[in-house]
Amino acid sequence: MLFDDMRSLLARAGNIAIIGAKDKPGSPVDHVGRYLLNAGFNVQPVHPVRRQAWGIPTVHSITELPSIGFDPDIICLFRAPQYCAAHARETLTLPRLPMIFWMQEGIRCPEAGELMAAAGVKVVEDRCLETVHAALFDDVTETFSCTRCGKCCEGRGGIVVGPRDLPRLCAYFRLPAEEVLARYTENMGGKPVLKCGEDGFCMFFRAGKGCEIHPARPAVCRAWPFFRGNLVDRVSFDMAREDCPGIRREATHEAFAREGFRYLNDYHLRGRDIFHEGRALIVDESELPSGAKN
Ligand code: SF4
Ligand code: SF4
Repeated sequence: MLFDDMRSLLARAGNIAIIGAKDKPGSPVDHVGRYLLNAGFNVQPVHPVRRQAWGIPTVHSITELPSIGFDPDIICLFRAPQYCAAHARETLTLPRLPMIFWMQEGIRCPEAGELMAAAGVKVVEDRCLETVHAALFDDVTETFSCTRCGKCCEGRGGIVVGPRDLPRLCAYFRLPAEEVLARYTENMGGKPVLKCGEDGFCMFFRAGKGCEIHPARPAVCRAWPFFRGNLVDRVSFDMAREDCPGIRREATHEAFAREGFRYLNDYHLRGRDIFHEGRALIVDESELPSGAKN
Protein backbone atom coordinates (compact mmCIF):
# COMPACT_ATOMS: atom_id res chain seq x y z
CA MET A 1 0.00 0.00 0.00
CA LEU A 2 1.24 3.48 -0.81
CA PHE A 3 2.54 5.73 1.97
CA ASP A 4 -0.23 8.33 1.47
CA ASP A 5 -2.97 5.68 1.39
CA MET A 6 -1.85 4.15 4.67
CA ARG A 7 -1.43 7.53 6.34
CA SER A 8 -4.88 8.56 5.28
CA LEU A 9 -6.42 5.28 6.49
CA LEU A 10 -4.71 5.52 9.87
CA ALA A 11 -5.76 9.16 10.26
CA ARG A 12 -9.39 8.17 9.62
CA ALA A 13 -9.29 5.15 11.91
CA GLY A 14 -10.40 5.85 15.48
CA ASN A 15 -11.33 2.43 16.90
CA ILE A 16 -8.95 -0.51 17.12
CA ALA A 17 -9.86 -3.97 18.42
CA ILE A 18 -6.76 -5.82 19.60
CA ILE A 19 -7.18 -9.57 19.38
CA GLY A 20 -5.07 -11.45 21.91
CA ALA A 21 -4.80 -8.34 24.10
CA LYS A 22 -3.05 -8.55 27.45
CA ASP A 23 -1.25 -5.99 29.55
CA LYS A 24 1.53 -8.24 30.77
CA PRO A 25 4.56 -5.95 31.25
CA GLY A 26 7.23 -6.61 28.65
CA SER A 27 4.97 -8.39 26.17
CA PRO A 28 4.84 -6.98 22.61
CA VAL A 29 1.05 -6.63 22.73
CA ASP A 30 1.30 -4.60 25.96
CA HIS A 31 3.80 -2.25 24.32
CA VAL A 32 1.72 -1.79 21.18
CA GLY A 33 -1.55 -1.40 23.11
CA ARG A 34 -0.09 1.35 25.26
CA TYR A 35 1.35 3.08 22.21
CA LEU A 36 -2.03 3.04 20.45
CA LEU A 37 -3.80 4.42 23.53
CA ASN A 38 -1.20 7.15 23.80
CA ALA A 39 -1.61 7.93 20.11
CA GLY A 40 -5.27 8.73 20.80
CA PHE A 41 -7.01 5.60 19.48
CA ASN A 42 -9.99 4.03 21.21
CA VAL A 43 -8.70 0.56 21.98
CA GLN A 44 -10.91 -2.43 22.71
CA PRO A 45 -9.09 -5.49 24.05
CA VAL A 46 -10.36 -8.89 22.92
CA HIS A 47 -9.23 -11.99 24.80
CA PRO A 48 -10.98 -15.32 25.41
CA VAL A 49 -9.99 -15.54 29.08
CA ARG A 50 -8.73 -12.25 30.50
CA ARG A 51 -11.25 -9.86 31.99
CA GLN A 52 -9.44 -6.60 31.37
CA ALA A 53 -6.38 -5.11 29.77
CA TRP A 54 -5.06 -1.56 30.36
CA GLY A 55 -7.98 -1.00 32.71
CA ILE A 56 -10.49 -1.64 29.91
CA PRO A 57 -12.94 -4.58 30.25
CA THR A 58 -12.32 -7.15 27.50
CA VAL A 59 -14.80 -8.92 25.27
CA HIS A 60 -14.14 -12.58 24.61
CA SER A 61 -14.40 -12.58 20.83
CA ILE A 62 -14.76 -10.33 17.82
CA THR A 63 -18.40 -11.35 17.49
CA GLU A 64 -19.18 -9.66 20.84
CA LEU A 65 -18.03 -6.22 19.67
CA PRO A 66 -21.47 -5.13 18.38
CA SER A 67 -23.04 -5.91 21.77
CA ILE A 68 -20.89 -3.22 23.43
CA GLY A 69 -21.36 -0.76 20.54
CA PHE A 70 -17.72 -0.96 19.45
CA ASP A 71 -17.35 -0.53 15.70
CA PRO A 72 -13.70 -1.33 14.86
CA ASP A 73 -11.87 0.48 12.06
CA ILE A 74 -8.91 -1.84 12.49
CA ILE A 75 -8.77 -5.45 13.65
CA CYS A 76 -5.23 -5.91 14.98
CA LEU A 77 -4.17 -9.50 15.55
CA PHE A 78 -1.68 -10.82 18.04
CA ARG A 79 -2.52 -14.44 17.26
CA ALA A 80 -0.65 -17.39 15.80
CA PRO A 81 -1.18 -17.72 12.02
CA GLN A 82 -3.32 -20.88 12.32
CA TYR A 83 -6.04 -18.89 14.15
CA CYS A 84 -6.19 -15.92 11.80
CA ALA A 85 -8.58 -17.43 9.22
CA ALA A 86 -11.12 -18.11 11.98
CA HIS A 87 -10.78 -14.49 13.13
CA ALA A 88 -11.28 -13.34 9.54
CA ARG A 89 -14.56 -15.28 9.42
CA GLU A 90 -15.65 -13.70 12.72
CA THR A 91 -14.79 -10.30 11.32
CA LEU A 92 -17.03 -10.94 8.31
CA THR A 93 -20.03 -11.26 10.67
CA LEU A 94 -19.68 -7.65 11.91
CA PRO A 95 -22.43 -5.26 10.80
CA ARG A 96 -19.79 -2.87 9.40
CA LEU A 97 -16.51 -4.26 8.13
CA PRO A 98 -13.26 -2.68 9.37
CA MET A 99 -11.02 -0.70 7.07
CA ILE A 100 -7.94 -2.81 7.86
CA PHE A 101 -7.29 -6.39 8.97
CA TRP A 102 -3.83 -6.08 10.48
CA MET A 103 -1.65 -9.09 11.27
CA GLN A 104 1.25 -8.10 13.47
CA GLU A 105 4.93 -8.70 12.88
CA GLY A 106 5.71 -12.38 12.30
CA ILE A 107 2.09 -13.26 11.40
CA ARG A 108 1.13 -14.29 7.88
CA CYS A 109 -2.03 -16.09 6.86
CA PRO A 110 -2.88 -16.19 3.13
CA GLU A 111 -6.34 -17.67 3.78
CA ALA A 112 -7.31 -14.83 6.12
CA GLY A 113 -5.84 -12.33 3.69
CA GLU A 114 -7.90 -13.71 0.80
CA LEU A 115 -11.13 -13.71 2.83
CA MET A 116 -10.65 -10.10 3.89
CA ALA A 117 -9.44 -8.82 0.54
CA ALA A 118 -12.44 -10.42 -1.20
CA ALA A 119 -14.68 -8.41 1.15
CA GLY A 120 -12.89 -5.16 0.27
CA VAL A 121 -10.90 -4.89 3.53
CA LYS A 122 -7.25 -3.80 3.35
CA VAL A 123 -4.92 -6.51 4.60
CA VAL A 124 -1.56 -5.98 6.28
CA GLU A 125 0.64 -8.96 7.15
CA ASP A 126 3.85 -9.25 9.14
CA ARG A 127 4.04 -5.55 10.08
CA CYS A 128 3.93 -3.86 13.46
CA LEU A 129 1.12 -1.30 13.69
CA GLU A 130 3.08 0.74 16.23
CA THR A 131 6.16 0.92 14.03
CA VAL A 132 4.20 1.88 10.94
CA HIS A 133 2.13 4.50 12.77
CA ALA A 134 5.21 6.03 14.41
CA ALA A 135 6.94 6.27 11.04
CA LEU A 136 3.97 7.94 9.33
CA PHE A 137 3.06 10.43 12.06
CA ASP A 138 5.28 12.73 14.02
CA ASP A 139 4.20 15.68 16.09
CA VAL A 140 6.53 18.27 14.62
CA THR A 141 4.80 20.88 12.49
CA GLU A 142 6.14 23.86 10.57
CA THR A 143 4.39 26.42 12.74
CA PHE A 144 5.03 24.89 16.16
CA SER A 145 7.69 22.99 18.05
CA CYS A 146 7.40 22.76 21.84
CA THR A 147 10.37 24.11 23.83
CA ARG A 148 9.03 22.40 26.99
CA CYS A 149 9.19 25.68 28.89
CA GLY A 150 6.21 24.60 31.02
CA LYS A 151 4.22 27.85 30.82
CA CYS A 152 1.12 26.03 29.67
CA CYS A 153 1.30 23.64 32.66
CA GLU A 154 0.61 26.46 35.14
CA GLY A 155 -2.86 27.28 36.44
CA ARG A 156 -5.63 25.39 38.11
CA GLY A 157 -8.58 23.71 36.45
CA GLY A 158 -7.61 23.83 32.80
CA ILE A 159 -6.68 20.20 32.22
CA VAL A 160 -9.91 18.27 31.76
CA VAL A 161 -9.61 14.49 31.94
CA GLY A 162 -12.12 13.37 29.32
CA PRO A 163 -13.56 9.89 28.81
CA ARG A 164 -10.95 9.16 26.15
CA ASP A 165 -8.10 10.21 28.47
CA LEU A 166 -9.04 7.93 31.30
CA PRO A 167 -8.08 4.55 29.70
CA ARG A 168 -4.70 6.02 28.80
CA LEU A 169 -4.07 7.20 32.37
CA CYS A 170 -5.30 3.88 33.78
CA ALA A 171 -2.91 2.02 31.48
CA TYR A 172 -0.05 4.33 32.42
CA PHE A 173 -0.52 4.04 36.18
CA ARG A 174 -1.85 0.45 36.03
CA LEU A 175 -4.73 1.55 38.25
CA PRO A 176 -8.52 1.31 37.91
CA ALA A 177 -10.42 4.39 36.77
CA GLU A 178 -11.88 5.20 40.21
CA GLU A 179 -8.40 5.19 41.71
CA VAL A 180 -6.96 7.44 38.99
CA LEU A 181 -9.81 9.92 39.42
CA ALA A 182 -9.51 9.91 43.21
CA ARG A 183 -5.73 10.33 43.31
CA TYR A 184 -5.08 12.78 40.52
CA THR A 185 -8.22 14.78 39.77
CA GLU A 186 -10.68 17.14 41.39
CA ASN A 187 -14.14 18.10 40.22
CA MET A 188 -14.50 21.46 38.56
CA GLY A 189 -17.70 22.54 36.87
CA GLY A 190 -18.84 18.91 36.76
CA LYS A 191 -15.71 17.70 34.96
CA PRO A 192 -12.64 15.96 36.45
CA VAL A 193 -9.52 18.14 36.08
CA LEU A 194 -5.91 17.36 37.04
CA LYS A 195 -4.91 18.59 40.48
CA CYS A 196 -2.29 21.30 40.95
CA GLY A 197 0.65 21.44 43.33
CA GLU A 198 1.18 24.28 45.82
CA ASP A 199 3.37 26.07 43.27
CA GLY A 200 0.32 26.51 41.03
CA PHE A 201 1.59 24.11 38.38
CA CYS A 202 -0.02 20.85 37.36
CA MET A 203 0.90 18.12 39.85
CA PHE A 204 2.77 16.27 37.08
CA PHE A 205 4.97 19.17 36.02
CA ARG A 206 8.63 18.95 37.09
CA ALA A 207 10.76 22.08 36.67
CA GLY A 208 13.66 21.40 34.35
CA LYS A 209 12.21 18.08 33.25
CA GLY A 210 8.73 18.82 31.96
CA CYS A 211 5.72 16.53 32.07
CA GLU A 212 6.15 13.46 34.23
CA ILE A 213 3.36 11.61 32.43
CA HIS A 214 4.16 12.82 28.92
CA PRO A 215 3.10 9.66 26.99
CA ALA A 216 -0.23 9.53 28.83
CA ARG A 217 -1.00 13.24 29.19
CA PRO A 218 -4.61 14.28 28.55
CA ALA A 219 -5.90 15.40 25.18
CA VAL A 220 -5.93 19.11 26.03
CA CYS A 221 -2.18 18.94 26.79
CA ARG A 222 -1.56 17.14 23.51
CA ALA A 223 -3.63 19.61 21.58
CA TRP A 224 -2.21 22.89 22.90
CA PRO A 225 -1.58 25.36 21.21
CA PHE A 226 -3.97 24.07 18.54
CA PHE A 227 -7.04 25.01 20.57
CA ARG A 228 -10.26 26.02 18.90
CA GLY A 229 -9.87 29.71 19.85
CA ASN A 230 -6.38 29.93 18.36
CA LEU A 231 -7.44 28.18 15.16
CA VAL A 232 -10.56 30.23 14.47
CA ASP A 233 -9.67 33.64 15.91
CA ARG A 234 -6.65 35.69 14.79
CA VAL A 235 -6.51 37.80 17.98
CA SER A 236 -6.38 34.69 20.17
CA PHE A 237 -3.68 33.27 17.89
CA ASP A 238 -1.61 36.49 18.24
CA MET A 239 -1.91 36.31 22.03
CA ALA A 240 -0.97 32.61 22.07
CA ARG A 241 2.06 33.36 19.92
CA GLU A 242 3.16 35.96 22.49
CA ASP A 243 2.75 33.49 25.36
CA CYS A 244 3.97 30.21 23.89
CA PRO A 245 7.58 30.26 22.68
CA GLY A 246 6.93 27.07 20.70
CA ILE A 247 4.79 28.87 18.11
CA ARG A 248 7.12 30.13 15.43
CA ARG A 249 7.25 33.91 15.30
CA GLU A 250 6.91 33.94 11.52
CA ALA A 251 3.89 31.58 11.47
CA THR A 252 0.80 33.02 9.78
CA HIS A 253 -2.61 32.43 11.27
CA GLU A 254 -3.77 30.57 8.15
CA ALA A 255 -0.80 28.17 8.13
CA PHE A 256 -1.14 27.61 11.90
CA ALA A 257 -4.88 26.91 11.60
CA ARG A 258 -4.38 24.54 8.65
CA GLU A 259 -1.63 22.58 10.39
CA GLY A 260 -3.44 22.62 13.71
CA PHE A 261 -6.66 21.27 12.28
CA ARG A 262 -4.78 18.47 10.55
CA TYR A 263 -2.86 17.73 13.75
CA LEU A 264 -6.09 17.45 15.77
CA ASN A 265 -7.47 15.01 13.21
CA ASP A 266 -4.28 12.97 12.84
CA TYR A 267 -4.06 12.44 16.58
CA HIS A 268 -7.78 11.90 17.17
CA LEU A 269 -7.89 14.93 19.42
CA ARG A 270 -10.96 16.71 18.11
CA GLY A 271 -13.69 16.49 20.73
CA ARG A 272 -17.37 15.93 20.12
CA ASP A 273 -18.80 15.69 23.62
CA ILE A 274 -19.27 19.18 25.08
CA PHE A 275 -20.40 17.80 28.44
CA HIS A 276 -17.30 15.70 29.11
CA GLU A 277 -14.48 16.99 26.92
CA GLY A 278 -12.65 20.30 26.84
CA ARG A 279 -14.51 22.94 24.79
CA ALA A 280 -11.14 23.94 23.33
CA LEU A 281 -11.01 20.67 21.38
CA ILE A 282 -14.34 21.04 19.63
CA VAL A 283 -13.77 22.73 16.28
CA ASP A 284 -15.25 22.38 12.82
CA GLU A 285 -13.42 22.99 9.55
CA SER A 286 -16.07 25.54 8.53
CA GLU A 287 -14.91 27.78 11.41
CA LEU A 288 -11.30 28.09 10.15
CA PRO A 289 -10.08 31.22 8.34
CA SER A 290 -10.69 30.87 4.61
CA GLY A 291 -6.99 30.54 3.73
CA ALA A 292 -6.69 27.55 6.08
CA LYS A 293 -9.31 25.31 4.55
CA ASN A 294 -8.29 22.41 2.32
S1 SF4 B 1 4.04 27.14 26.52
FE1 SF4 B 1 4.35 26.34 24.45
S2 SF4 B 1 6.53 25.91 24.28
FE2 SF4 B 1 6.05 26.11 26.49
S3 SF4 B 1 5.64 24.00 27.15
FE3 SF4 B 1 3.67 24.92 26.59
S4 SF4 B 1 3.38 24.33 24.43
FE4 SF4 B 1 5.54 24.00 24.91
S1 SF4 C 1 -0.31 16.59 32.34
FE1 SF4 C 1 1.75 17.13 31.75
S2 SF4 C 1 1.53 18.44 29.93
FE2 SF4 C 1 -0.46 18.37 30.98
S3 SF4 C 1 -0.47 20.17 32.32
FE3 SF4 C 1 0.27 18.41 33.51
S4 SF4 C 1 2.50 18.52 33.35
FE4 SF4 C 1 1.65 19.81 31.73
